[in-house]
Amino acid sequence: MAVSVTGATGFIGKRLVQRLHADNHNVCVLTRSKSKAELIFPVKNFPGIIIAEEAGWKDCIEGSNAVVNLAGMPISTRWSPEIKKEIKQSRIRVTSKVVDLINNSPQGVQPTVLVSATAVGYYGTSETRVFDESSPSGNDYLAEVCREWEATALKVNKDVRLALIRIGVVLGKDGGALAKMIPLFMMFAGGPLGSGQQWFSWIHLEDIVNLIYEALSNPSYRGVINGTAPNPVRLSEMCDQLGNVMGRPSWLPVPDFALKAVLGEGASVVLEGQKVLPAKAKELGFPFKYPYVKDALKSILS
Ligand code: NDP
Repeated sequence: MAVSVTGATGFIGKRLVQRLHADNHNVCVLTRSKSKAELIFPVKNFPGIIIAEEAGWKDCIEGSNAVVNLAGMPISTRWSPEIKKEIKQSRIRVTSKVVDLINNSPQGVQPTVLVSATAVGYYGTSETRVFDESSPSGNDYLAEVCREWEATALKVNKDVRLALIRIGVVLGKDGGALAKMIPLFMMFAGGPLGSGQQWFSWIHLEDIVNLIYEALSNPSYRGVINGTAPNPVRLSEMCDQLGNVMGRPSWLPVPDFALKAVLGEGASVVLEGQKVLPAKAKELGFPFKYPYVKDALKSILS
C-alpha cells in the first residue's frame, strides 16, 4: 500500500510512519519542512520514504492508495486570539488542501481512503455526561474547531472511504500531554490536577497508531470512530496511577495556575475533560492492547 501522511513529523505521525515503513508500505511524508522531516526520517533508517513539501503533495497523493491527515498546530500553548485562529485555520487549511488534491486526482490514481484526525473536544466538556459517536457536539471553542475540521474532511468525494478519528489524550513516551504532566507531577509531588473530578479520555500511543493503521485497510472502518481507550478515568485516578507507577506520592494537588503556566489556556484539555467511550471501535472488534490506564502507564514509564 502507498500512504501519504500529513503531520507525519508529529507525536502520533512519527510512530505511524515507523510502523508503515517497517511493514514495507510506501510512505510519503507531507510536511511544511523537508529539512525537519529529513532529521526525523533519515534516509539510512528509512530508505524509500518520500518527503514532500507542499509543492510536491499533489504527486504524492496521486500516487497513494490512502491518505492519513494528522496536521495541525499544537493546542497545548497559551491561547492568544491569533493562536486560537491558527489552531483552527491550520487544521482547516491542511485538510482542505488534502481533500482538494484527492478530489481532483485523475480517475485511476485517486486514493480510495482518507483517515482524518479530529478530537474528543468535539463533544465539549462535562463531569457527568457520557459521550459516544452518536452524541451531539458541544458549544465551546474546541468543539467548534473539531466541527469545522470534520466538516472540511467530509467534503471528500463520496467514493473515498472516510474515517474520522476523534482522538482522546494520547499517552506515550517523549511527547503529548504526559511529557508535560510528568515534570509538573515531579515538582508538586504529584496529585490531582485541578479538581481531579474531570474525566480523562486517554488512549495509548500504540493503540491509536494501530487504530489508524487498521482504518487504512479495513473497509468496515468508516465514519466517526472515537480513538479512546474503553476505560476513561477521572483525572484524580489518572494521577494516583501515575504516582504509583512513578513511585511518587500523589497527595499534593497540582494547582490550576501551575498547569496553566505549563500548558497555557490549552490546560483546559486537562482541567475540563469529557468521558468518551469507543463504542464504534468496540463494535468493530478493535483489539485494544491497553484498555486500562495503569497498564498503559506501566508500559510507558517502566
Ligand atoms: P503534533 O503536534 O505532534 O504534530 C502535528 C504536526 O502538524 C506537526 O508535526 C507539523 O508537521 C504539523 N503542524 C504543526 N503546526 C502546524 C501549522 N501551523 N500548520 C500546518 N501544520 C502544522 O500532533 P500529534 O501527533 O500529537 O496529533 C496529531 C493530530 O491529532 C493533531 O491534529 C492533533 O490535534 C490530533 N489530536 C492529538 C491528540 C494527542 O493527545 N496527541 C489528542 C486529540 C487530537 P510538519 O511540521 O511536518 O508540517
